[in-house]
Amino acid sequence: MIPISSPQIGEEEKQAVLSVLDSGMLAQGRQVFALEALFTDLCHTRHAIATSSGTSALYLALLANGIGPGAEVITTPFTFIASVSAIIHAGATPVLVDIDEDTFNIDPSLIESAITPATSAILPVHLYGYPCDMDPIMEIANRHNLLVIEDAAQAVGATYKGKPVGSFGTGCFSLYATKNATAGEGGMITTDDSSIADRCRLLRSHGMRSRYHYETLGYNLRMSDIHAAIAVVQMGRLREFTAKRRSNAAYLSSHITTFPTPTVREGYDHAWHQYTIRAPGEYERGVAVQELRRKGIGTGIFYPSLVHGHAFIHRAIRGEWLPVADRLSQQVFSLPVHPGLTKSDLEQIVQAVNSLCYCITT
Ligand SMILES: *Cc1c(COP(=O)(O)O)cnc(C)c1O
Repeated sequence: MIPISSPQIGEEEKQAVLSVLDSGMLAQGRQVFALEALFTDLCHTRHAIATSSGTSALYLALLANGIGPGAEVITTPFTFIASVSAIIHAGATPVLVDIDEDTFNIDPSLIESAITPATSAILPVHLYGYPCDMDPIMEIANRHNLLVIEDAAQAVGATYKGKPVGSFGTGCFSLYATKNATAGEGGMITTDDSSIADRCRLLRSHGMRSRYHYETLGYNLRMSDIHAAIAVVQMGRLREFTAKRRSNAAYLSSHITTFPTPTVREGYDHAWHQYTIRAPGEYERGVAVQELRRKGIGTGIFYPSLVHGHAFIHRAIRGEWLPVADRLSQQVFSLPVHPGLTKSDLEQIVQAVNSLCYCITT
């Protein structure tokens, strides 16, 4: 079976973990600080704050931006649940606007009509590693004095018009096992704003300014040096990983003849966390996924339902019927694009996908 994702863990990652274990210093320390420095380099931001997960990065970023009860945060319905659960945990209300048919990301032309006096932030999600259209999003945010918190969990290394994702507003990344660079579990916040960075650091560790001096009520959302050591090595390999993902995606796009292939607009540097195509409908998608599995090809559906399709989320959401997201959630499926693929894996994927036209009438 060719898996949909495959963490690339080599000898260097293993040695890095063993060194931390041998050092006797296991919790947040040197490796975490080294990892933070690698993210400030990557994102060209003044600060980076490591956290226990991408979800805790989002949560801390919202709190540090002062987003809480009474605030509305505009985001997409077509994302991993954490983009929205973090908003709800912060006490705010997610407001969902529909997505762009071609990019799967929030449609900037729909944002303005969702703004109310309670709106305090826009939370764009760079889904599949493809950057959101940040020019109009930043323009709207600036004109309405809104904060921007980017969910860049899937997009480490992606750029929009030459500018790294995570550097437009407060950036949130994930280092979960299947993400483009991993710590096993982990997250990162990036920002140019020193007071937001300071607040994230305080909240991350019990609100503690110095040992047993508590400035505010905080949490323990730190990353351990064991995890950070893995990610430090991974970040050193990120260019190579991303280049391989890009060439895999280019191969798929130039050889798949039976489905429309993903859009990549001029000025967008895609991180190819997922390579996502569309079947005509839910039934055909089911057939395609089953047929590919039979031929030894793993697929993923990101995501089969919209975030407000879950009863526990519904109560906290303001959103109308979102026809594009609704339709795409029934059509999308992703093919393996990860750096572990061989030439023969790619050939096998293309052959299997191109022969799907016999079971799907597009
Ligand atoms: C993975 C992911 C998260 C959460 O990251 P974790 O590290 O798993 O907590 C948030 N948003 C999106 C879009 C993700 O893909």
